[in-house]
Amino acid sequence: MNLDKLIENAAEKMQEFGLKRTAVEEANFAKVLAAFRACRVSEINLKTTSGYGYGDVGRDTLEEIYAQVFCGEAALMRQQIVSGTHAIALALMSNLLPGDELVYLGTPYDTLHKAIGDLGAEPGSLLEMGVKYREIDFDFEQFDLRQVTEGITADTKILAIQRSKGYNWRKSLAVEEIGRIIQAAKSAYPEVIVFVDNCYGEFVEDREPLEVGADYMAGSLIKNPGGGLAPCGGYIVGRQDLVDRAAARLTCPGIAKEVGASLGDQRLFYQGLYMAPQIVGEALRSAVFAAALLQGLGFEVLPTADAERSDIIQGIKWGREDLLLAFCQGIQKYSPVDSFVTPLPWDMPGYTNQVVMAAGTFVAGASIELSCDAPVAPPDYNLYFQGGLSRYHGKVAIGSTVRDMIDKGLISLE
Ligand SMILES: *Cc1c(COP(=O)(O)O)cnc(C)c1O
Repeated sequence: MNLDKLIENAAEKMQEFGLKRTAVEEANFAKVLAAFRACRVSEINLKTTSGYGYGDVGRDTLEEIYAQVFCGEAALMRQQIVSGTHAIALALMSNLLPGDELVYLGTPYDTLHKAIGDLGAEPGSLLEMGVKYREIDFDFEQFDLRQVTEGITADTKILAIQRSKGYNWRKSLAVEEIGRIIQAAKSAYPEVIVFVDNCYGEFVEDREPLEVGADYMAGSLIKNPGGGLAPCGGYIVGRQDLVDRAAARLTCPGIAKEVGASLGDQRLFYQGLYMAPQIVGEALRSAVFAAALLQGLGFEVLPTADAERSDIIQGIKWGREDLLLAFCQGIQKYSPVDSFVTPLPWDMPGYTNQVVMAAGTFVAGASIELSCDAPVAPPDYNLYFQGGLSRYHGKVAIGSTVRDMIDKGLISLE
């Protein structure tokens, strides 16, 4: 097989995928535009504040928009939430008291273990605060809902569900599947609060977890909802009481959501959300291209090019460290920023394995931009790829990287 032909086939797959996807993108765009109009966004909302940030109408209106778009009673969308990990930890820590139990479906995203404190004493963690913690060893393929109902008890305060695979080689949960898990959990224990880690999931489908019964959810603005423009931040959306507690913990009780200057350019957060449905579509198209091309070369990918998607993550099983590193370095090489830099594995805060990351991005570390990362973990050397802001960039970067790998003799064309 010649590479040009494989690239052509992968590009066809990407186009077919795009045609099927248009309806979801239009629906999501319409949802965002309706919220902008309902909340009467005007030029004043795009201005910034300083100091305490009292009466910051840009910030407050944006939170109303987030609540409407994601179908929650309330939203906390702040640049003072420094990352997805912070948003998720904040959502959990603010709603758990000593003696309460948190149950995770499966194992959480790597960086959350320190916030939970389940892998060793960690100052300030949930376990140190006296929260009890368990994981349900859920089989995401078999999808036996008895594992859910048997995994929680009347004492479980919060059931946490992670939509995306994160750094686990497992199927990402479709919103419909999240709904079935929630229904099972709540029919057995109506009082249980369901939290969803929605990182990488926003706008991939035409519904979000709150529409299928989740009580609240959280995510990062340098992923999907920031649309590639938001320079930082995180959000929590859902039930009013749960969001209010998160706000009181982010700042402090009494001042909660009333403070927090926006300092920077509010336009980036508004325009980022406006762009997000389309940008997520670009990331997905590149992911499908990557899946199709690497499948064509005989590599195992998750999801496959034809599979339904519920997040923007494309898993690639390299099976060899040199291949993993070469691909990562290629993605960096074909980036608009820091293209001359060579990514190497390093001890990243919050992760157990060393992590290698290619992110030649405009916003540092933004994984809604073309990027890939992996815990350097034998024997599978799985890599997780994010397709970026432009399908054209995705195609060029992946195609050129694979060509370089073939030229170096790392991949053979049989
Ligand atoms: C990225 C991610 C996080 C953590 O977000 P950061 O912004 O990297 O801290 C948590 N959960 C999932 C599923 C993620 O993909």
